[in-house]
Amino acid sequence: MDNSIVRVPATCPMCGQEYLVGLELETISDRLATGRSIKLDCNCARHTLTWVANEIERAQIREYTAAVRFFMAEKEQRTRG
Ligand SMILES: [Zn+2]
Repeated sequence: MDNSIVRVPATCPMCGQEYLVGLELETISDRLATGRSIKLDCNCARHTLTWVANEIERAQIREYTAAVRFFMAEKEQRTRG
């Protein structure tokens, strides 16, 4: 299968800097579906830490995942058609 990466905006809990986290589409889809926790890695310039996505972040991740899935389905249709 494919290893598409979903880029989700996150905010560093230490300094509040916004950045993008790359998450594997398959992994997070599975975690969203089964209700397991999703870990986010901080990518900001000053901190290195990992935390578990809260409800707000999960909702955001769900939206981005849906958007990527939609985009992929469209692309697939175009290559077939
Ligand atoms: Zn930071």
